[in-house]
Amino acid sequence: MGMRRKTLARKVTVNGLGLHTGEWVNVFLHPAQEGEGIVFYVRDGRRVVHIPALTPFVADTRRRVVLAKDGVSVQTVEHLLAACFGIGITDLVVEVKGAELPIGDGSAQLWVDAFKEASIVPLNEPAPIFSPAKTVTVQDGNALITVAPNDRFTATVTFVTDHPLVGVQTATFDEETDDFVTAIAPARTFGFWEEVEALLTQGLAKGGSLENALVVFPDRYSSPLRFPDELARHKLLDLMGDLTLLGRRWKARVTARASGHSLHHRLCQTLWHQVAQEEKG
Ligand SMILES: [Zn+2]
Repeated sequence: MGMRRKTLARKVTVNGLGLHTGEWVNVFLHPAQEGEGIVFYVRDGRRVVHIPALTPFVADTRRRVVLAKDGVSVQTVEHLLAACFGIGITDLVVEVKGAELPIGDGSAQLWVDAFKEASIVPLNEPAPIFSPAKTVTVQDGNALITVAPNDRFTATVTFVTDHPLVGVQTATFDEETDDFVTAIAPARTFGFWEEVEALLTQGLAKGGSLENALVVFPDRYSSPLRFPDELARHKLLDLMGDLTLLGRRWKARVTARASGHSLHHRLCQTLWHQVAQEEKG
């Protein structure tokens, strides 16, 4: 018996600062109709644009994931989507008053807390599954992702840096044996001190602070680590969020090395076309 579709039992409100815009945002999470999927309802003046959380609506993957439709966009959706992936929410209306989701403490904790507050209810239909028949690989320089057939979702992420404090970190998640809420959701967004200035020049990270990101200085971290391998765990969180954009539950073994949002998106684009072909027969 496969997993059923799930949504929230009731509406819940989440407020906070956008990491990149630096603006205060109000988000209302609503129960969705069965089969609606995860959809952002973004207000633009007097109209509300419905942007599905699906691969074809990805507009930008530099440092964060931006979804857009009909000239309206919403950014930094990946941690909310990771929480949906980890907890199994397939149908959700995300009403956003602002251009970016709140960052919270930089992890997926605020979304996990909101889902708990709202309660999760199973729907009738089985959740749609992505289950690859053969191995798929995407690569960009030394970044590499492999997706292999498996009876459940597992992921291994290797984060590679020559930073002396961090080195090479590997994090693993197995949906059968690991608990997303305690092992992955609390891992925070991070940035290297040298990058911060560049981000500000690009108009990003305007809302960034030591309260919502872990900053890696040459010789220390800005606050105590939540896990020795917190950086790799956050990379895994980002990966899970990005894989959600395929619009399915994953039954696959995913192995990623030195990857980020852009390569995750390229993987989903490749798979999106395969899945569409298969459904056509
Ligand atoms: Zn992230």
